Amino acid sequence: MSRHAARTITWVDAWEPAAGAERAVAAFRERFGAEPDGVWSAPGRVNLIGEHTDYNGGLCLPIDLPHRTYVALRRAQGEGSDATLVRLASAQEQGAGVWTSPLADVLPGRVQGWPSYAAGVAWALAGDGHVVGGFDAVVDSCVPYGAGLSSSAALECAVAVALDDVFGLGLAADDAGRARLAAACIRAENDIAGAPTGGMDQSSSLRARSGHALLLDCLDQSVRHVPFDLAAAGLALLVVDTRAEHALVDGQYAARRTACEAAAAQLGVGTLREITPDALPDALARLTDGDQPAEVTRRRVRHVVTEIARVQEFVALLDAGRVRDVGPLMDASHASLRDDYEVSAPELDRVVESARSAGALGARMTGGGFGGSAIALVEVGSIDAVAAAVARAFDEAGFTPPAFLVAEASAPAGRTA
Ligand code: ADP
Ligand code: MG
Repeated sequence: MSRHAARTITWVDAWEPAAGAERAVAAFRERFGAEPDGVWSAPGRVNLIGEHTDYNGGLCLPIDLPHRTYVALRRAQGEGSDATLVRLASAQEQGAGVWTSPLADVLPGRVQGWPSYAAGVAWALAGDGHVVGGFDAVVDSCVPYGAGLSSSAALECAVAVALDDVFGLGLAADDAGRARLAAACIRAENDIAGAPTGGMDQSSSLRARSGHALLLDCLDQSVRHVPFDLAAAGLALLVVDTRAEHALVDGQYAARRTACEAAAAQLGVGTLREITPDALPDALARLTDGDQPAEVTRRRVRHVVTEIARVQEFVALLDAGRVRDVGPLMDASHASLRDDYEVSAPELDRVVESARSAGALGARMTGGGFGGSAIALVEVGSIDAVAAAVARAFDEAGFTPPAFLVAEASAPAGRTA
């Protein structure tokens, strides 16, 4: 039975780029009664390993998804104040209509909701001294929303490459320029959308390569492209969107980040990246009670330091052509996130346990946690069986049915049409 024939299981298929572009153009015509200058798109991402390490100057290892956000866009028409108007619409936010604002009014604290992610990019680029004017844009996307697969960065990065192109900034042409676009997208998300995310998502969406995982060093934003061809090894990466929504988790991400910064300050280091695994026992012994008990801070620090080491081991296995051996590192990452960092959720633990019982080589939560998605490394021939086992386990637990997708290391942000 093909994946798509399995009746009780929801698969989220990626759109073909031409189809995504057509949808965006059709929506643009409908909204603005005109042709866009072009269509640009950017992928969501899934992190293989290295979670909650980005804001600690650590290492992470995302791949880009085949699922992308498409933006049909044109420079603002007209002169004078009309030339600086930003007009935005999204197929995922139909009810919101067309959001309109002068670019000069896009400022921290002034934009609410989804337009902040898109308009914020123009604000950040202008802040870098680039000449960016108004624009009309319509968005459509097959990246699951709020599932830990980075629909927010997909939106920012699609807008970033579009503005880069229509305003002739030339940044998307090489990796150094793409790193600057990523920095602008991060500022948009941090300062305009108000989400204190660490930067992995935007770097992946702009700087990863098809067929490769992106080893990102968040200390200096340097990257290495690590060949990642699961199909050649007879394997596949199953992504499970748990669709879990947990109340009261809004402040948790910021709280983890603050705890790490406080621990680094206590230890007299700039970031926890400076603590090597050898130095970990000594560092843990030096931590004292602060806003939270030392015992809690110790577990937070232990996660970050051991997780960075796991990324290095994972990459060493990939370099040695041993992708079949990475499962235990995924399992250890999950245990660390669940027990030491305390960012898992019952649904995520359930995916991991049921996938492993059904034969997955390894499984872990991915993304920030408290819901969102988990990944499982599986034999190509057992994708359906593992998905069915996870769906059954969710059913038995009374959870909302999950959604599944299959991830292949796909292309970064760029012009599509
Ligand atoms: P994730 O990045 O894991 O999907 P986030 O909470 O970081 O979750 O980002 C989701 C938010 O990003 C949405 O609530 C919305 O504001 C914005 N967003 C993402 N994709 C789109 C889209 N296609 N259209 C409009 N807004 C979007
Ligand atoms: Mg996000």
